[in-house]
Amino acid sequence: MKFVVQVRLFPEPAQEAALADTLRLCNEAANLVSRIAWETKVFRNYDLRLHAYGELKNMGLSAQPAQHVIKKVADAYVTVKAQVKAKLRKPLAKPIGFRTDAAQPFDDRCLSWQVEERTVSIWTTGGRMKGVRFGCSEKQATALAAYRKGESDLVHRDGMWLLIATCDVPDTDVTEPDGFLGVDLGIANIATTDDGKRYSGKHLNAVRHRDRELRRRLRAKQTKSAKRLLKARRRKESRFARDVNHVISKSIVTEAERTGRGVALEDLSGIRDRVRLRKPQRVTLHSWSFHQLGRFVAYKAARAGVAVIYVDPAYTSQGCSACGHIDKRNRPSQETFACTSCGFAEHADVNAARNIAKRGVAGWAVSHAA
Ligand SMILES: [Zn+2]
Repeated sequence: MKFVVQVRLFPEPAQEAALADTLRLCNEAANLVSRIAWETKVFRNYDLRLHAYGELKNMGLSAQPAQHVIKKVADAYVTVKAQVKAKLRKPLAKPIGFRTDAAQPFDDRCLSWQVEERTVSIWTTGGRMKGVRFGCSEKQATALAAYRKGESDLVHRDGMWLLIATCDVPDTDVTEPDGFLGVDLGIANIATTDDGKRYSGKHLNAVRHRDRELRRRLRAKQTKSAKRLLKARRRKESRFARDVNHVISKSIVTEAERTGRGVALEDLSGIRDRVRLRKPQRVTLHSWSFHQLGRFVAYKAARAGVAVIYVDPAYTSQGCSACGHIDKRNRPSQETFACTSCGFAEHADVNAARNIAKRGVAGWAVSHAA
């Protein structure tokens, strides 16, 4: 299973200048290669090398960085073509352009990690630069030392220098689950388990709401600094949401692992069609990263050998988890579930989570029969 580790670099002023120069040169080179590809109609990595390699050498790029630049351009055209084919965007009218600070991949020959010392050695236009400091947590350091594979991306964002590395952890065998921990996802409560544990969305929703107001005002301004601030706010909000999702997913998977259960989640592929809410809530829901939370649960579970099953979300909120009776009137308010048939009463989200847990057990039995 693959996941990314993002660390922040703390370059000395001279190192920073070299990094900035390197990123700028690589992206100027990428723009040149992109124009060559566009004019010669050659888009494949290896063919493009024949056309572009010499020019890049002339620009002062050495062999490895030149190849990475060409591959970056080729990959960008592949991505765009796939998007055009899927009708996600219009066909290109001009060559793909790269910002002067667009991310640049470095392989092990151009970038080496001294994880213990928390430094990297990196190729720059000013030569090999050793001892560039980076900061990371103990956990990230362990992952980097044991599982880092392939290229790392150098990124300059919001005034920070970042390295984004990919780690590849061999999957643990999935333990045969003894029951399932059902998880209901929502807005008022981001996640609720059938054990009755609720992760409130109150704080996160408040942050989102406040940010949306601020963004509206900034957008109206249209100045360059307002735009920059807008971008930074958006990133900050999504970082915050990601942190929340990490905490929740970790807690869910830890609890399932501790009790020998698997995790049952709703299959969310149709969630936008399914949910009918008044408008302000719908906006929250759309911006809300359900899928991210699902992904985090899935990869943390895979690492721990905890089974994950996705169940049909239909009627999980209206059905009674005690007797199975389905009725809209079972749900007199947002928070309450009270069965009109058997009288069972519970917090609405907990009832839904119990339904999801039951479907998890049934689904697992079906898919693992024989
Ligand atoms: Zn009932």
